[in-house]
Amino acid sequence: MSSNEQKILGPEVGYVDILNFATVEHLKKEAEKGPQYSPLRPSASGKCTRELAYELTEYAGIARYEKEVITPETHRIFALGHSVEWHILKQLEQHTGEYFKVKYKQQGLSFFKLEATNKPELSQWLEGSIDACFYSPSHRAVIDFKSKKDKYSSYHKSSWDETTEKLSNMESVQMIGDSGTSFWAEDLEAFLKELDDPFFEANFLQLNLYANSQFLMERGVDHGAIIQINKNDSRLREVRFKPSRALYEKTKAKFEAALAAVDAGDPELAPRDHLLGSIKCAFCSFKKHCWRVESDEDPLKSYFKTLPKKGWPTDLNRLDAGSQQLLGEAYEAFKASQEASEKTEVVEKEIIDAMLKANVRKVRFGDGKIYEIKTLKDGIVLRRGKL
Ligand code: SF4
Repeated sequence: MSSNEQKILGPEVGYVDILNFATVEHLKKEAEKGPQYSPLRPSASGKCTRELAYELTEYAGIARYEKEVITPETHRIFALGHSVEWHILKQLEQHTGEYFKVKYKQQGLSFFKLEATNKPELSQWLEGSIDACFYSPSHRAVIDFKSKKDKYSSYHKSSWDETTEKLSNMESVQMIGDSGTSFWAEDLEAFLKELDDPFFEANFLQLNLYANSQFLMERGVDHGAIIQINKNDSRLREVRFKPSRALYEKTKAKFEAALAAVDAGDPELAPRDHLLGSIKCAFCSFKKHCWRVESDEDPLKSYFKTLPKKGWPTDLNRLDAGSQQLLGEAYEAFKASQEASEKTEVVEKEIIDAMLKANVRKVRFGDGKIYEIKTLKDGIVLRRGKL
């Protein structure tokens, strides 16, 4: 100890270091034990079919896949999310009683039996519990609370505001009231397609499953609502929707397909619902195994190495019928969007030209959106801006 160093009281390491160390040890032990609960549950409704099959394989003790252990920070973020969601439920109960009652908190529900034939021990009921229902004499809703961290946005105050604006401008969405905090989606499937966000979509698939349960339908629950809580500043946002039976059937079919693949002895019989390079695969614990990535190099590059080398093109009509249809339809859509984007480029140049003539670099248009001229090394472009 040098002469000017103070004697530190207490342990020789920080209290927070002790917590981090102990959390890592706990997480390692949990990882060694393997999954303790079946992955086939409503909260997994948004997962990829193959991801579910891998998880079920692990749960059944058939195989283990190497995965990264989460950090103590991530572990605490998950735990904090539960507390934040509980806190908002308490606030609702405290303040909204004269308008609606909070009922069926953590009510357990069962949906359908998933049957395995070769490995009957894998058969199970799909079951889970809801957060709550809002009950009044005239309205009944099933509710799911989701806490969400806010982030920097390049053209809004934050990513929360960016999502609010996205919802406000979606064709499949109608604003409820004029506070800018509540939205309605009449056609859930069209909404999810337009939303194009697999993580947010997962919340709706789960709640749609609940809304289609016998228990809630018998009690007159006719809509669902995801209530998002901004973890940074406690803002709330509601996206309310009309349940879809067709989507419920699709979710059911996904669980059945995952179970069928494991029952048949190969989780890779379950379809991949996402492409390598997608955000879902990027965050998937099984990506290396699923896409045969052997090293730490970029998974996308590794996967392309497994495809046939460059050579003569294959005529579309030499592929199997399913691939012909999929590729043919996707190509037509691609051509149409390319034509649209060529038109966009022309109009963008016209806007830049008009802004330069008006001697302005940044304009807020009538719909509130701000655009500004940026100079990049390839030339002048128009980009979304913020105040
Ligand atoms: S890597 Fe992608 S396709 Fe494979 S299981 Fe994960 S999400 Fe599904």
